[in-house]
Order: sequence, then structure tokens, then C-alpha cells
Amino acid sequence: MSTSGLELAILGGAPILSEPLSVFHGSLGLIERSAVERVMDSGSLSAFYGSAGPEFFGGEEVRALEAEWSEYFGMRHAVSVNAATSGLIAAMGAIGVSPGDEVIVPPYTMSATAMAPLFYGGIPVFADIEDQTFCLDPAAVEAAINIRTRAIIAVNLFGHPAQISALRAIAEKHRIYLIEDNAQAPLGREGEHLCGTVGHVGIFSLNYHKHIHSGEGGICVTDDDTLANRLRMIRNHAENVADEMGAGDYSNLIGHNFRMSELSAAIARAQLARAEELVRPREHIAESLTDAIDDLEGLTAPKVRPDCRHNYYCWTLRYDSELMGVSRETFSRALTEEGFPHSVGYVEPLYLLPVFRERQAIGRDGFPFNLTNRHYEAGLCPVAERMHFEEVILFEPCAYDVSEDQLEKLANALRKVHKCRVDLRVIDSNE
Ligand SMILES: *Cc1c(COP(=O)(O)O)cnc(C)c1O
Repeated sequence: MSTSGLELAILGGAPILSEPLSVFHGSLGLIERSAVERVMDSGSLSAFYGSAGPEFFGGEEVRALEAEWSEYFGMRHAVSVNAATSGLIAAMGAIGVSPGDEVIVPPYTMSATAMAPLFYGGIPVFADIEDQTFCLDPAAVEAAINIRTRAIIAVNLFGHPAQISALRAIAEKHRIYLIEDNAQAPLGREGEHLCGTVGHVGIFSLNYHKHIHSGEGGICVTDDDTLANRLRMIRNHAENVADEMGAGDYSNLIGHNFRMSELSAAIARAQLARAEELVRPREHIAESLTDAIDDLEGLTAPKVRPDCRHNYYCWTLRYDSELMGVSRETFSRALTEEGFPHSVGYVEPLYLLPVFRERQAIGRDGFPFNLTNRHYEAGLCPVAERMHFEEVILFEPCAYDVSEDQLEKLANALRKVHKCRVDLRVIDSNE
């Protein structure tokens, strides 16, 4: 019997959550359904055309989505694309990244953030993150800037704003660009600034894992007319329209097909109209979990910087194995047995991926790494490594339907395993 009178499920006791949480599908409702029907009835699933003329800018739904998105976020331009990944690539092209240019990125993010510069021969340079918010550390960014630096890509990770105003000031000082990867913080905010609106370009994701989604899709926002023009060209076979659209600068204007379909645009419009309603319940789940464990020694709930809004794409617990007296892995296994779905860590710091380790991206000769002496190896960003390999335990509020009853059970599972952690030492010491 346990020292505390409770029996952990991993040691034969009853689990707190006996049924698995159901996958979250609740964000698609009647208005999305009627949006799809509207497009079906129109008979036009896409109206893009890859040469000059009104159809170069897409169909009715695409253009309406862009107008509504730019109004919602208070930006001059919104340019839809078929994924945030494409938006990041288009942004690198638009700002004129050239072979050998360096682009500063965090290592602790979805891989697409760090891959984007490579498509134009740019060199990703990793700067470390802050341990409170997991976002780029402005001091590390400053230290990484040199004459070859073209841009910074900040990620508003897990739904919390990076220090976007400070990073914009750094970018202005060095006359480089700030790009915001805002895939995870659609309604995040730093002070009076909405996430995604502070960088020269901000990129949103409409991927089905995200708060607001349309199957696949992405949106780039910018206040800069030239960048918006270049984004639109790169999205849609730039080479065909460069003259008609008065490009002037033809660099990076071999275009892609990054176009969004009318169906995705119509669904995205419906989702944008009820964005608060989609994001707010995710925040509620996270805030309730935070309240439930805030007093527990050895576990640290996510921190929100003053006057910021955190959208909680992920709820992150930081685990102190010394204070807990038991390894994170054993604690995690016990939590799993109680029925609490989660993961340990997030992604391995990206510089450990083969593309960087082996310096092999485009073609057989190691382009663009053959233009730089930079090497990528373990130890580059110690904070990111500590977060991933030692501290972070992560729950995804966007992935599950959670009732109030289940929410209480999730909290109870955390509190139970924390309370009985001494009982886990036998497992730890057997390993
Ligand atoms: C999901 C995500 C992306 C990629 O978004 P897609 O729309 O799937 O291409 C990029 N960056 C971050 C931080 C993400 O979470």
C-alpha cells in the first residue's frame, strides 16, 4: 500500500481517468457546413489563374477571406496561401533572402520555421530561447547578428508571444527583417499588439491541428505594399507576371503554386468569424490545469508575461527532477497510467536534424551549407536542450474534447502522481 493511502495506477491502483479523452472535432459546425455548400453551389472550387488579370488574385472566397483577415488583425494586407509552411517560404523569398544570407531562428519550434530560409539558399542560425516562455531570447538574437544576417524568424510558441516588440526594435536597429511565425498563437497578444502583426510579415496556420483551421491553409499579413505584392507573386507563378505587376526587382520571383482553394477559404472565413469562441475554451482548459498545480513543488506551470495573452496551443509543465526525487520519464509513465495524455519534451532542438548535422539540404554538394563555416551540433542552445531533454511535459488542449468533469480529473491525476511520487522511486531505482 502506498505511503499516502492512494494507490498509483502504475502500481496497481485505479486510474483517475478510466476512459481516454475524445479527439476534439467540435470546432466544425453548421456555419462551416453552409460555407462548404455555398462553394459547392457556386461550382467554382478555385478561381486562381497563373497569369496577369483579375483571376491572378484568386476567387471570391479567397479575396473575401483576405479582406476579413486584414480587417480583423488591423493590417493593410492579408495574403492567403495553402499552408503556413508555404507562407514562411514565400516570406523568405519576398524579403530577398539570397544564398549565404543568415536567418536567425529558434531551435525549439515546428521544423518548417527553420527550413524556410534553405529554399533560397539562406543559412538558418539558431539562437537560444528563454526558459520562461520557450520563445527566442532577444539577447541571444543580438549576439547572433552579423553583416550576413538578413532576418529573424520569431515563433510565438505554444500560443505565447515571443518578445516581438523588442525583436522588432532589434531588427530596425540592424536594418534587417522580423518575420513572425504565428502558427500557434492566432489571438495571442503582447501589450496592445496582436501576435503576427508586429513583424514585417506575420504568418498564421490553418492546419487542422491549430485553433482555427480549414484542413490546410495559411495567411501572411503585412503592412508593406511591396512585400505584399511579392508574396502574391511568389504564391502564384511569379515568373509569368513579374513585368505586368511592375516587379522591378526580379530576384526570387520564380514562383510556386501556394494557392488556397475556395473551399478552404470559405471554411476559414467561418472559423475567423468565431475565432474567440474557438480559442477561449482552449485557454480555459490550460488555465484550470495551471490553477490546480500552481502550489505543487517541483512542477512549474506556464508563465504568462505581464499584459500578454497566451492561447495555449500547448500547456507546458516544467519538471524539476531534483525537487521531485524521481525521473521525469517515470513520472510521465505514472501520469499515462492515470489516463493523462501528454508527451515529454516537444521537438528535439532542430539543429540535431540530419539536414543540419550532415549539412545536406539542396542538391549533392551541400548547398547552401557550402557557403558557410557554421556547423550544427549538440550544445548549441543549452536552454532549448534542457527544456526538451529534461524539463518539459506537454499537454495539447487543442487536441481533445475535455468536459469540466474530465478537466477536474486531469488535475487530480497530476496532483495524485505528485503526492505519491515517493512510491515511484522503486521503479526509478529498478532501471
Ligand atoms: C503548424 C506549424 C507550422 C506549419 O503550419 P502548416 O500550416 O501546417 O504548414 C509552422 N510553424 C509552427 C510553429 C507550427 O506550429
